[in-house]
Parts: sequence; structure tokens; C-alpha cells
Amino acid sequence: MAAVPTPPLRDDVSLWDAMPGMLVVLGADGAAVHANAEFCAFLGVTHQAALGAAWQACLGGSSREALLASLRCHEPFAMELEVQRTQGQLAWVKCTARWLPVHLQWVCLWHDFTDSKLAQASAQAQAGLFRLLADNVPVLIAYYRAGDFKCQFANKEYARTFGRDERSILGLTFSEVIGEEAARRIEPEVELMLRERHPVSYERKLPSAGGATRWIEVNLLPHLGAEGEAVGAFVLISDITKHRLAERAVRESEERLAKFMQATAEGIVFHKDGLITDANPPVTDLTGFAVDEMLGRKTLDFIAPDHVGKVAAVIASGQETAYESVLIDKFGQRIPVEFIVRTMLRNGERMRMTIVRDIRDRYAAQARINHLAHHDELTGLPNRMSFMENLENSMAAAQENAQRLALLFIDLDHFKRVNDSLGHLVGDTLLRTVGARIVACLRATDIVARFGGDEFMVLLPGLSTEPAQRGAVEEVAQKLLAAIEVPVNAEGRPISVTPSIGIALYPGDGDAPDQLVKHADSAMYLAKARGRANYQFFDPAMATSAYAALVMEGQLAQALERGEFELYFQPQVRASDGALVGAEALIRWNHPERGRLLPDAFIPVAESQRLMLPIGQWVLEEAARCALRWQAMGLGVAPVAVNLSTVQFQHTGFFDAVARLLPADGSGKGLLELELTERMLMDDLIEVKRLLVRLKALGLRISVDDFGTGYSSLGHLKELPIDKVKIDRSFVHDLPSNGDSVAIARAIIQMGRSMGMTVIAEGVETEPQREFLASQGCDELQGLLISRPLPAAEFEAWTLARRAAKPGT
Ligand code: C2E
Ligand code: CA
Ligand code: CA
Repeated sequence: MAAVPTPPLRDDVSLWDAMPGMLVVLGADGAAVHANAEFCAFLGVTHQAALGAAWQACLGGSSREALLASLRCHEPFAMELEVQRTQGQLAWVKCTARWLPVHLQWVCLWHDFTDSKLAQASAQAQAGLFRLLADNVPVLIAYYRAGDFKCQFANKEYARTFGRDERSILGLTFSEVIGEEAARRIEPEVELMLRERHPVSYERKLPSAGGATRWIEVNLLPHLGAEGEAVGAFVLISDITKHRLAERAVRESEERLAKFMQATAEGIVFHKDGLITDANPPVTDLTGFAVDEMLGRKTLDFIAPDHVGKVAAVIASGQETAYESVLIDKFGQRIPVEFIVRTMLRNGERMRMTIVRDIRDRYAAQARINHLAHHDELTGLPNRMSFMENLENSMAAAQENAQRLALLFIDLDHFKRVNDSLGHLVGDTLLRTVGARIVACLRATDIVARFGGDEFMVLLPGLSTEPAQRGAVEEVAQKLLAAIEVPVNAEGRPISVTPSIGIALYPGDGDAPDQLVKHADSAMYLAKARGRANYQFFDPAMATSAYAALVMEGQLAQALERGEFELYFQPQVRASDGALVGAEALIRWNHPERGRLLPDAFIPVAESQRLMLPIGQWVLEEAARCALRWQAMGLGVAPVAVNLSTVQFQHTGFFDAVARLLPADGSGKGLLELELTERMLMDDLIEVKRLLVRLKALGLRISVDDFGTGYSSLGHLKELPIDKVKIDRSFVHDLPSNGDSVAIARAIIQMGRSMGMTVIAEGVETEPQREFLASQGCDELQGLLISRPLPAAEFEAWTLARRAAKPGT
């Protein structure tokens, strides 16, 4: 069919311009054929400029292409176009077009909807912003419509939590999102929220993909419509897992602590502001109070009154410390304890935790150690250390109260003998018994101690200073003497010991404890010296000499064991030719502090204390040993004269002791001479004679020492088997000038010769003395003129040298 030219649309400009709205007629190619005034005004172009294709320049974005594409279809259409108005404004129009086939033209009506387009864009921007916000808060957010409970909104986190994304979750119902079971469980909460139209919140566990449980707190907020009806629900969920875990940790540590408190053997108390909030079984066991009786009460209620101050101070200071204190238990008993205090958080509160340690055992051990340190194990009495402490205190008290105290030093006589002969067990029994008896004699306030060995010490405090009080002390001493000497049954045999008691008083006998004890000790030695089994008061007047003697006695006893004694030998020579005829043994004591002591310094002390027996025995042995040695050497020193003490000579075992010294074959005959004093010979003539005869039979010679100083009559001596008399050196000393001495010396020499005895002069110091004695017929001489007493080795050397000088003598 041939194309028929179509009549163009009537160009009735005035009509179109009268139409409300924008109108444009386009050719098939989009060129404007007509445009009304409103259209042109909208674009901001002239009518002329609007015609043709030029107006298309106003279309922005993809609008031109879209329009041209639609124009090609010849179907009516409507579309939105972006328009750039010449004023620079962007506008949006809705274009509704109709194809006029007759005219082969489009009639297009434009409607400006820029305002609503802009509003929509801003709403979208807001929604985007909201989404951005919703997706970035650490809260899960969703919105469900009431009625069908379909999800209208969910933020990313919410959707993800339930395994969706924020788009796919939309439209799903509540139970589809959270699961049927969970939905059923929280249905009551949801109903409550909708019914009451106020927010509800609840917590629930959420099993998560990883297996770890999450805890969430859910807040449901009703969305109310205009009528106040619930049109939807906002869901806000926060993850409280961390919170829950922390809570659980606290709870668990709390449980652990509770378990620990129950299980531990150590007492634990919690207190806050000085009030007890918790206590475990060891504490209730220790105090005897039930937990209920302790809770809520003041900590200080359980502390011994004398410790309350300290405990209160520790509580007030809040310091963490450990210290010892004392509890009072339910029965009012004091319990020594150690507190270890710590401050700690419990249930979010600052608490004081105190570990309560029972230290009674520790105290008992301490007390035991203390007891051991202060007591004598054997008798259970206080020991020296403890006594000295007591003494010091008692002295101070006595001074303060103007009182007097007495110290009684008790030493058992011959205790060593019991111990040595009957054994230590018997000795121990004896000491224990004596200790008990001493205690029994005294008042409770008196103090008894064992000083060691067989020494006991008694302290009588609180005496009055009246002189008559001495009598009271004497009474105690007498009581002690009587009580101690009662025989003790030791393993079936009765043993009796006596005490020697020395007494010192304070004030008076010393100012310091040591001094007082020392003086009581001296007084005790005095008691020993006065025959034992008695008591003596300390006497300051005789203190020094008596004490010196006592000290020496002690040292003498040890001197033998320590080998401090030494025998010196003084030669004896024939007066006529000076030939060596013998030697006198003279003892020396090489004292460790005082140097070499002569016999006069210690023999009297030794004699008074029977120490002379062992010492004299040692002299005899030593002299015999030397004499035998010199005999073997052929030195010709015989006899060796030994001085005897009375105690030795009178001792029953004397003869046997001497007999043992000499060889049984009699080869020792004439080797030893015994020097006796006149006194020894006078006692019991018959007995002395018998002894001397026996001694002589052993081959010993007998000499009378210091002759002329005693009272023996010559007739008396005649009956005894005496070999030699010694003119005392006091007579020799004054020879030959003193007439008396000359007379005495002459008489002795004549008497001796007449009775067939050898006469020897001792202490010969000068040539005139020697000449006189020789001229008078004195047989032998001894003295410094010949030689001083010499140590054994020197004596040997002296003898050998002399023999070499005078061969044949
Ligand atoms: P004594 O038996 O009269 O001994 C002689 C004393 O005269 C000794 O003193 C001696 O050293 C000393 N003497 C020696 N030559 C002279 C001298 O020329 N001039 C003077 N003035 N004295 C001289 P010593 O050794 O000090 O002994 C003193 C006393 O001690 C002795 O006197 C004796 O009685 C006693 N004694 C010595 N040794 C013993 C002993 O072993 N046993 C005992 N029981 N008594 C002893
Ligand atoms: Ca002598
Ligand atoms: Ca003499």
C-alpha cells in the first residue's frame, strides 16, 4: 500500500497554549512539531528553540535514549524523564504519550513530579542511613508485624544470628526465624507485651553454630498504632554472654571458695566492718560456737580482752598481716591462735578474710622447750639458769619490800662414792629422792633448783630483816639435814647421804646474784671442812682465806690427774767425806696459774681434805720408781727418803700400799726411807711399833723428821725401830753462834749415837754449820750448802758429775 501523506496536527497554538499542563507533539524521530507555552516555560526556552530536535538536549541521564526507544514502538506509553531545565534545575516529569497514526505524530503530556521524586529520594537516603546505623550497633534489631508476626525489618547482625541475611529474613514469621521451639517458649512474653502494650524483656540461651552457648537479653517493645493498638513489635537483643561468663566465673570462684572453706583444716572467718559474715567448720570446732552463733556478731566478741586492742587496731588499719592473738572459746577458755589477715573482694564487696590457726601445739612445744631450758631433766626441778633469773627478780623484790632472802647451797657428802660404787641408776634415784625431799621441806613460795651434779640450791624469799629470822633459816637448814639423811631405798638397799649446806643472806652477803651464789658455795665448803652433815652461814671475815683454800682444794683434786706434781730430790752426804748417801724426795706442784708451788702452800690443805692420801701415794710411787731406776743405774743413791703425813700413816691401807711399791723378791730393801714426825710416833705406841716393825721387815728405813721440835721423850723413841733422826733446820740455822741451838744439836747427836741411830742435819747452808756439825760427830748433812732440791733429771746429772769429780765416792 502506497504511503498516503498524512495531514499534520492542526497547528492551533492558541488552543494548546490554553490547555492546562505541558504538551508537546513529537515526530516519530522525536523532533518537536508543536510545544505549548507551559512546556516552553517549564524548560525555560522560547517556542522557537523548543521545536525540532534541539529540545532533547534538556533530557538528562538515560532519559533521551529511553524516550527515543519508546517513540519507535508506536504504542502509547508513560515514562519518567529527567529534565535539565535551562535555569539549571533538575526536574522529573512523567511523560504520557499517545501515537496518532493518522498524523504519524506523538502527543505527549508532561507532568512535573519533581517534588515527590525528591521526597522519595530523601526517604531512601534516610532508610539507608537507618540501615547503616542498624547494621553497626552492637545490638540485634528486628521489627515484626503484629497479627501475622512476619519480619518487616532486621539488621545484619540479627539476620546473621538466625542464619539469614537482612533481605531473605523479611517476610518470615517469628517462629520461622527463631525456630518453633524457641518461639513456643517465649510466646508468653510476646503475648504479655502485646496485651499489656508495654516492653518486656527476658534472657535466654542461644545455641550457636560453633557450639559455644551464647546468652542474649531480649527486649520486646510494642509499636502502637494511632488508636493505641499494637501494630508491631520491635525486637532488641543484646549479647550478654560475656557478662554471663563473668558472672559464672564469680559464682564458680565463690563456690570453690565455699568448698575450700568446708574442706580446709584451717579456720577461715570472713568479716566485714568488724562483723562476722562467714566461718568454716574448723573455726566452729575451735571455738565451740555454731556458725549461727557467730554470724553477724562482732569479731572482737571472740577475742580475749587483753588482745582486743591489738585486733581492733589491725582491723582499723586494714593492713594485711599475720600476728598472734588469743581467742575465747564458748567455754571461756583461752586459745592461742595465729591470725593471717587478707582483704579480698567477695560478691563485689571488700571483705576481710582471716585465717585462724590453732597454735596450742606450737605453744606446747615452746613451753616444752622453755621447760627443758629451765629445768633439770632428772629431777624436774628448775635448773641453774632459771634459778639465777628467779634470784635476780627475788633480790629486786626483796630490796623493794625491805625484806630479806636466804640462799641455801646444798651439796651431798660423798655422793661421788655412791655413784662410782653403785652405779648411775642408783645415783639418779638418790638425786631424785633428795630433790623431792627438799621440795617437801619448803613452802610453795620457796624455790628449789638443781645446779648440776649433787648440788641443789634453795631460795627462801620474803624473810623479814629482823635478826631473829636467822633462826628461821636455821630451822629450814636443820629440817633439810634431817630429811635428806633418811636412808633412800635404792634398788633394795638403803643408802644414806648427808648434805653440807652453805647459807648466804641478802642483803648482806652480796649484791649480785653471782656473788650471792658464790658465797653460799663458800659457806657450803666451810660446812664440808667442819665435818660435813652440817650447815654454815657465810662469814665475810674468813671468806678470803677459806675461799682460797677451797679453790685450792678443788684444783688439788685435779692436779694429780693432770700430772702437775713433780718430785724434787735433795742430796744427803756423809759429813766426814761428802760422799752421797741418799736423797730426800720433796714434792712440788707446778700450778697452771701460780707456777711452781712449795709444799707448805698446799700440803696443809691436802691434809685437811684427805687429798693427802692419793697425793702421798703418788709421792711414794714416784720415789720408789726413781730409787729402783737409780739402783739399776748403779748411781748408789740409797735410800730415797719420803715424807709422810699423819693421815697417810694412820690410814689402814698404808702398809699394803707401801708393800706394793717394792719388788716381791726383796731386791728393793734399803731403797726407801720413811720420814715420820715425832707426833706420828706418839699416838698409839703399841700400834705404831707393830707397823714400823712390819715396814722395816719390808726393807724400809725409818727416820724421825724435825727432831727436837716435838715432845717425844727419848725413852719413848728407844722402843721403836728407828734408823735415823733429823736435826730440825731451825736449830741448824743458828749454829754455831747460838748457845741454845749448839746445846740442842749436841744433845741430839749424842743421843742418836748412843742409841745406834744415824744423825743427819738438814738445812745446812754455811761452811761454819758444816764444820760444827762434822766436829760434833753428825753423820750426814743435807742443805743448800750441798745442793738445793733438784728435779730427777738434774739430780741424776748432779750425781754423775760429782762422781766424776770425786771418783770412788
Ligand atoms: P722437811 O721435811 O723439813 O723438808 C726439808 C725442807 O727444808 C724442804 O722444804 C727443803 O727444801 C728445805 N731445805 C733444804 N735445804 C735447806 C737449806 O739449806 N736451808 C733451808 N732453810 N731450808 C732447806 P720444802 O721442800 O719446802 O718442804 C717443806 C716441808 O714440806 C717438808 O719439810 C716436809 O715436811 C713437807 N713435805 C715436802 N714434801 C713432802 C711430801 O712428799 N709429803 C709430805 N707429807 N710432806 C712433804
Ligand atoms: Ca723431811
Ligand atoms: Ca725436816
